[in-house]
Amino acid sequence: MKYLVTGGAGFIGSAVVRHIINSTEHSVVVVDKLTYAGNLNSLADVSESERFAFVKADICDQEHITQVFSEHKPDIVMHLAAESHVDRSIDGPAEFIQTNIFGTYVMLDVARKYFNGLEEAQKRAFRFHHISTDEVYGDLDGTDDLFTEETSYSPSSPYSASKASSDHLVRAWNRTYGLPVVVTNCSNNYGPYHFPEKLIPLMILNALEGKALPVYGNGEQIRDWLYVEDHAEALFLVATNGKIGETYNIGGHNEVANIQVVRTICGLLEEIRPEKPAGVENYADLIEFVTDRPGHDVRYAIDAAKIEKDLGWTPKETFETGLRKTVEWYLANESWWTSVLDGSYARQRLGNENS
Ligand code: NAD
Repeated sequence: MKYLVTGGAGFIGSAVVRHIINSTEHSVVVVDKLTYAGNLNSLADVSESERFAFVKADICDQEHITQVFSEHKPDIVMHLAAESHVDRSIDGPAEFIQTNIFGTYVMLDVARKYFNGLEEAQKRAFRFHHISTDEVYGDLDGTDDLFTEETSYSPSSPYSASKASSDHLVRAWNRTYGLPVVVTNCSNNYGPYHFPEKLIPLMILNALEGKALPVYGNGEQIRDWLYVEDHAEALFLVATNGKIGETYNIGGHNEVANIQVVRTICGLLEEIRPEKPAGVENYADLIEFVTDRPGHDVRYAIDAAKIEKDLGWTPKETFETGLRKTVEWYLANESWWTSVLDGSYARQRLGNENS
């Protein structure tokens, strides 16, 4: 089988690609525009594989995407390409509307035309898997509720509104045109290769450099954290065995407040990297509370019972084991993150890059 993975040079996409190449016999073609969030160094482990190909393309470019489908003839599409950072969506929503909504429309339309031309056996196997977020459900402030697949959409930020919109388009392409789709909505991911603008890598790297650890508001916002490699396995399972037209929520059963996340990172660094930058007595002394993000959702929590029951998936990592692995990975992979911080990652090229 050939998997077309959009956004495969990003954080979660690269974990999916590493999983498919390293743990299965299947092939992958990555389609990625290489925005600031795309990093070819995250694919270095798999880029020499004969089963791997990379195409630099914008999902909004219908002609180019059509060409990629006819050249690479994918059996399954996993659509992860998106603008993904909430703060950036508040400062500049246009790119989110363009990539997340219009780009998803282009992917759906090209996939539909391609699907219509397939042989019956290929049609039966074909899936368009749309990867989305639990942020489409909004906020669970003050309740013990969990997001289920039936929870109504109530997005708060330009990011989550654009993802909600793309989810609706995907379901409409199933209902209206019969495109075989599956949708997943996942909680916050963390782990290796995470771009250092996001909470966990930002805190690890700032602490190592003795910089302030900025925590929004009172830090009591609760997220349900999932280790990225657990997510990648779940995504592969859904893309391959998920039931057409269904949605699966994916979560880590790890509800933790942001301030607790930061304190745990500080504790792990005290243990693993006790020698601190000059002037820092305790990593936790670097914590600083800063003005809250506008529209900041207080609590997200996922009910992942359906994917567990129907597809037998449960996460392998607890928050403690996953966070320890993550801190250890950043300590052992300084060249990956220094190339992000100094911008040199943007100049990387792969040997087998296609048009
Ligand atoms: P990311 O920002 O790390 O990666 C996004 C990738 O998409 C990058 O490689 C980027 O170059 C590429 N891209 C952006 N615009 C593109 C375009 N127009 N054409 C082609 N490629 C483009 O994101 P991520 O954290 O890996 O998230 C991947 C997907 O998973 C997103 O759809 C996101 O909404 C969803 N998601 C993320 C999380 C999370 O915690 N990170 C949780 C749930 C769902």
